[in-house]
Amino acid sequence: MIVGVETTPCPKCDRELPVTAVKCRCGWLAAKADPARVECEYTLGCPDNAILKEKTVTGWIKICEKHSMQLAQQKADAACQKLGLKTPAEQRAWVLANLKNKPLRERIIQREPGEDWGEEDAT
Ligand SMILES: [Zn+2]
Ligand SMILES: [Zn+2]
Repeated sequence: MIVGVETTPCPKCDRELPVTAVKCRCGWLAAKADPARVECEYTLGCPDNAILKEKTVTGWIKICEKHSMQLAQQKADAACQKLGLKTPAEQRAWVLANLKNKPLRERIIQREPGEDWGEEDAT
């Protein structure tokens, strides 16, 4: 705590900073301090630059690489849950039955046993 000054934790390292701080010793820079900064809109205070646009339930947002992957995983998990696909084997079978993109289908069929993560859980 810094006595007598209103503080806020640094978005990157959680060190207490005055609310007016525009940078931190850990390397964090406030949006206004860096003209090249593109705020990631996935979570408040994400320290990474947004490099992509993603569609979410609330509309399009600018998003950093890390959160984009997180979001993709969430979407995939939600889709699998909706379809009742629990194991990688079930997910793979569904994709093969429903995927219309032929070259992509072929690539999935050609995968070697054990090449897919978690496959051993299915047996
Ligand atoms: Zn910091
Ligand atoms: Zn982010």
